[in-house]
Amino acid sequence: MNSKKKIGIMGGTFDPIHNAHLALAQAAYEQLGLDYVLFIPACQPPHKDSVEVSDADTRANMVKLAIADNPNFVFSDIELKRTGNSYTVDTLTQLKELDKDADYYFILGADSLFSIKKWYKPDEIMSKAVLAVGTRNNKTIEEMRACIDDLKATFNADIRLLDFPDLDISSTELRNIRGEGHSIKYLVPENVCDFITDSKLYLKLKKSRKAKKSYDN
Ligand code: NAP
Repeated sequence: MNSKKKIGIMGGTFDPIHNAHLALAQAAYEQLGLDYVLFIPACQPPHKDSVEVSDADTRANMVKLAIADNPNFVFSDIELKRTGNSYTVDTLTQLKELDKDADYYFILGADSLFSIKKWYKPDEIMSKAVLAVGTRNNKTIEEMRACIDDLKATFNADIRLLDFPDLDISSTELRNIRGEGHSIKYLVPENVCDFITDSKLYLKLKKSRKAKKSYDN
């Protein structure tokens, strides 16, 4: 019997963290029988223009608030402590050194799955972690399955497709809603909503309405 710990990793820019992030982590926790899920805010997301991303402490504070009431969700500052780009492969290497008796499950959405081939050292990422992927309304189940088959064939990856409802919430859209002066109540946990209001976050739309994502890194 495999007695290794099963640890989920919910990595993200979390600008801001929202209810779909939490629901995705919960789906992985339940469906894969994880011991707990680490929430790891990226200090410097490799695929985003740092000018457009809120500072790391602010994003980390929101993550801490969002998971405060769930003992199965654990905050990790592993990427906040590193300088330079927060590459997932480096995080997995560090985590595996810290706990050799654990299997890691990297939790991600469809867009990340479709771009992971272009991340830094995708082969190492997929050799160090199982991928636990949630569907999103922008991809059909057939497209998801085809992508999973391709990654399995190319990288010998272990990928688990989660049973996950379409939750049409994105951090970009939440920033836009705030920027247009509307409320994001009920789309993020209440304490996160209060934090965003008190800190006057996202009141001004940044230059570009869309977060710039470049997956060539
Ligand atoms: P994010 O925008 O905060 O999102 C975090 C995760 O939640 C993503 O996988 C995202 O899926 C998923 N998600 C968000 N809303 C969802 C919804 N409504 N339904 C289902 N899934 C949803 O974080 P991110 O900027 O994408 O980064 C995710 C992680 O990937 C971070 O740990 C980052 O460092 C890592 N990353 C690493 C590299 C690299 O090492 N080179 C490159 C890129 C990203 P989607 O992908 O579908 O948005």
